[in-house]
Amino acid sequence: MDVIDIRDLVYYPVSDRKVMRGEGVHLYDEDGTEYLDCVAGTFNLSLGYSHPAVVAAMKHQLDLLVHASSSLQNEPVNGLVRRLVEVSPESLTKVHPKVSGGSTANEGAIKMAQHATGRSEVISLFRSHHGQTMMMTSVSGNAARRAPHPSLFPGTLQVPDPYCFRCFYGQRRESCGLMCVDRIEDFLDHASTGRAAAVIVEPISGSGGNIVPPDGYFQKLRAFCDERDIVLIFDEVQTGIGRTGRMFAAEHFGVEPDIITTAKGLGGSGAQIAAILTNERLAGLPADEHVFTYGANLLAAAAANATLDIVRQPEFLAHVRATGEHIRGRLAELAKRHRAIVDVRGVGLMIGFELGRPDGTPDVELARHLARTAMRHGLIMRSSRYGHGNVLKIRPPLIITTDEADLLCDRLEGLLRAELNA
Ligand code: PMP
Repeated sequence: MDVIDIRDLVYYPVSDRKVMRGEGVHLYDEDGTEYLDCVAGTFNLSLGYSHPAVVAAMKHQLDLLVHASSSLQNEPVNGLVRRLVEVSPESLTKVHPKVSGGSTANEGAIKMAQHATGRSEVISLFRSHHGQTMMMTSVSGNAARRAPHPSLFPGTLQVPDPYCFRCFYGQRRESCGLMCVDRIEDFLDHASTGRAAAVIVEPISGSGGNIVPPDGYFQKLRAFCDERDIVLIFDEVQTGIGRTGRMFAAEHFGVEPDIITTAKGLGGSGAQIAAILTNERLAGLPADEHVFTYGANLLAAAAANATLDIVRQPEFLAHVRATGEHIRGRLAELAKRHRAIVDVRGVGLMIGFELGRPDGTPDVELARHLARTAMRHGLIMRSSRYGHGNVLKIRPPLIITTDEADLLCDRLEGLLRAELNA
């Protein structure tokens, strides 16, 4: 009997070979070939592949109870809610865990802001990515993703992001006075309905090229929102759960948003879990207006509890900061040798490096080529999807050791040597 190639049946492109198992930062395919995963799965494996504590917590819960209606109390979700309040900024005292992922967490956050303010419009940044439901496709800052869908959520407004390396306003960081916050006023006055409920931002852009806002940006944005009674939402789907070396990036930047959404890394080794963390004022959305069957799943909550107990340890977070610094140092060395690397940036283990041509213009083809050929050098890599798409991301599992970080950099060096000097 002819075996049909799976690639003729699925709707999306997939690899030639199957992956079979993973351990820590390593993934193995059916031939036993090993790869070091620079992007932690889908940026979600904060504790790497099959972390023993996560696996044990899930196995234990599997024998007890996999699912119950989210209106019934249970141990794993109670534990998750308590832990999330403990680790989140002080003013965020309420948790909504009944969401099925990052997109629906963001949608819930927006509904909360609309409910509290009585206004509807949502402001987001160029190059942002907040998910792929219809609403989050409308909110995210990428025309290419919106174009094929003509009837989107109407009340969205995208404004220039703090991408200092290629500033929209042609300014320099030292002297701009954070024009990218000041000018939002003009967009509100001239390009919106004037009825903004919320600003939603990724503290460091995930898909948009690892853009780290300059000092003072969030303080100014916070003041901007306070003056206009606009709700400030931090989409920490990628930056949260230790990725920046703090539990949430809000802490790194020294601001308290009104809402934080979290997902991805919360599941530790890949459990499907997400939550909205909010302050008292915004917790007024009626409970049945944003509930999903697979939200607050017991197995996933058990995984999240095991994850939070590890990530919240001060020495674990210090390790993330130190390893991140080490990798950034090695990338800076590589940048001296390879002129195609035009910028290295990041916080903790949320790192990206930008590729450019000799004239400084973004080299998207090179970024894509390197991401494609990385597997031949034992690396799983991804390039940024949006904006210029010329940024390669280094976001390995947070449990990466210094030796493994060196292995990652050695392999990357081999890849660059082979492909750039070719
Ligand atoms: N926000 C950010 C910053 C993301 O990176 C993603 C997913 N890549 C989402 C939201 C959407 O999360 P999900 O895929 O779980 O809906």
